[in-house]
Amino acid sequence: MDKKISNISELIIKELEKRIKPIEFKRYIKQLKYNESLSNIHSAVFEAPNALIANWAQAKYAELIATLFEMKTNIKPAILFRISDDEVLLTSFLEGSKAPKISTIGSPLNPLYTFENFIVGGSNEFAYRAAIMASKKPGIVYNPLFIHGGVGLGKTHLMHAVGNVLKDHGKDVIYTSVENFLNDFSRYLRIGEMEQFKNKYRKCDLLLIDDVQFLSGKVKVQEEFFHTFEALKNENRQIIITSDQHPKKIAGIEKRLISRFEWGLVADIQPPELDTKLEIIKKKCEINRVSFSNDIIQYIATIIENNTREIEGIITKLNAYSQLMGIEVDLEFARSVMKNQIEEKKTEITIDSILEMVAKELNVKQSEMRSNNRTVPVVQARRIAIYLSRTLTPNSMPQLASYFGLKDHTAVSHTMKKIKAMIETDDDFKLKIHEMINKVSNI
Ligand code: ADP
Ligand code: MG
Repeated sequence: MDKKISNISELIIKELEKRIKPIEFKRYIKQLKYNESLSNIHSAVFEAPNALIANWAQAKYAELIATLFEMKTNIKPAILFRISDDEVLLTSFLEGSKAPKISTIGSPLNPLYTFENFIVGGSNEFAYRAAIMASKKPGIVYNPLFIHGGVGLGKTHLMHAVGNVLKDHGKDVIYTSVENFLNDFSRYLRIGEMEQFKNKYRKCDLLLIDDVQFLSGKVKVQEEFFHTFEALKNENRQIIITSDQHPKKIAGIEKRLISRFEWGLVADIQPPELDTKLEIIKKKCEINRVSFSNDIIQYIATIIENNTREIEGIITKLNAYSQLMGIEVDLEFARSVMKNQIEEKKTEITIDSILEMVAKELNVKQSEMRSNNRTVPVVQARRIAIYLSRTLTPNSMPQLASYFGLKDHTAVSHTMKKIKAMIETDDDFKLKIHEMINKVSNI
């Protein structure tokens, strides 16, 4: 980028100073440094002292910065932030920006999505092992590798991890969303360069197609994707596909494609168990270079249910607040910061919804909990359901006694004491109760 534009970056910083609260400007914008040598007409690169500031700046100011650039230069560049003492490019192109995209096919791999940074637990071990195999013997063992699971469970992370390994071995890797694939396809079709499109997509060593459920209903692209798939498969080039569902359950996709999705290996990822979740949070803290005490980490684990993606947001938020206010993050602080987040998601809790959740969590029948079944697991489940109902719903003790078929309210009061004592003495139990509260609150 030439001197002129570099001066413009100074101008923009000045403009920002006018528009942003002084304290925020001081804490965030002032800490950003414009990197002239990495910037060009398409993208303006800023360096941040740590990942949190980079994330925060990306979330809060990238759009504003891009708009200011546009006002001054008539060009709206993508705004990128990277950590200064690290080669890691933290954030990719501004989502939804009209910024001109650098004309590579596909999108960049996230360098932080590696196998080393992936926490393995029962919920994801199968998919993890399959991905490792695909990275060791691409195109040979599982082709395609189809990974499915809910939002934020690490599908994209795993596929990038394979991509990062192969890229390090000098292989040609393409990572793309269905939307990107579609855009490329239309673009090349428009300029009459389909051969070029085919050459790229059909000659790569590894093709990563993310969120393939979005192919649903798009006949023309499915057709093109089918041929791409065949060409790659025939030459033993590795394909990895992710989706939010098992291939059989994706509607609106041609049968011949679905059957090909199942040719290799279909691996699912389940929501993480508590242990895995705790490890993921620790890992994310480590990557973001923040440290929280164990009780905060456990607290974060209870707030997020399944979507691991929320972890980073929470860590960033906690840290940003603590920096802004200049105080250490302790449990109480964490609770107050997260309060809004929790309340937004709260749904009405009833004895029925508690019963349903407890039955599912502890693997007992709802009817058993309301009967006089005295087996240990049922008694325990019943006690927990009573405790939660008393704590989370407005029902009185006599009402609960009648609902659960107990003699009278003293039985409820006795149960409350028992569970409270257990919460006080058994940390694992306490955590489990917290988890259940979050589950039933739909957090
Ligand atoms: P998906 O593609 O399944 O929606 P992502 O791969 O985007 O989910 O994961 C969401 C976030 O959670 C990412 O920041 C990712 O690094 C993190 N994550 C998910 N699972 C794990 C895991 N097992 N270990 C470490 N990080 C994880
Ligand atoms: Mg994903």
